[in-house]
Amino acid sequence: YTGKETEEIMTSKIRNILVSEVQSVPILIKEDTSIYEALVKMFLEDVGTLYAIDEGKGLVGVISRKDLLRGTMGGNDIEKTPVSVIMTRKPNITICYPDDLLVYAANQLIEKQIDSLPVIETVDGVDQVIGRVTKTTIARVFVNLME
Ligand code: ADP
Repeated sequence: YTGKETEEIMTSKIRNILVSEVQSVPILIKEDTSIYEALVKMFLEDVGTLYAIDEGKGLVGVISRKDLLRGTMGGNDIEKTPVSVIMTRKPNITICYPDDLLVYAANQLIEKQIDSLPVIETVDGVDQVIGRVTKTTIARVFVNLME
């Protein structure tokens, strides 16, 4: 292949990657989980974002590191205050689907200035979180393609 052809192959490879091929496992908590418990979970699971779910409603919130940091300020009792007080809620949650192109998800991360997107599968009208796409996902794909 010429340099130009290799470039074209690479570009079309990147363009065709689907979210489902590279998504990672989501870490889920209930919305009545305390800020303290959520912090512990974030450290134990080594993630930057947790998703709050309700049994009947599916995805209800996103909890980032800064959300938890904010939750520890202002004198809250973090062992009693639930994450529902500080999380980003629907309809303000940016999501993606397994069949979306990774390029679309990456664009959303940049445009919305967020670190991760929950991957959603709608089952009987309920948004179930089945994965996550993060900036690390994008970096990993990038490195894999270079190797
Ligand atoms: P951090 O707060 O650790 O820098 P983010 O940049 O991802 O992490 O989060 C910034 C804000 O955006 C937080 O308030 C968080 O709740 C919110 N957020 C994160 N991910 C999403 C998402 N997928 N949809 C909507 N809001 C989000």
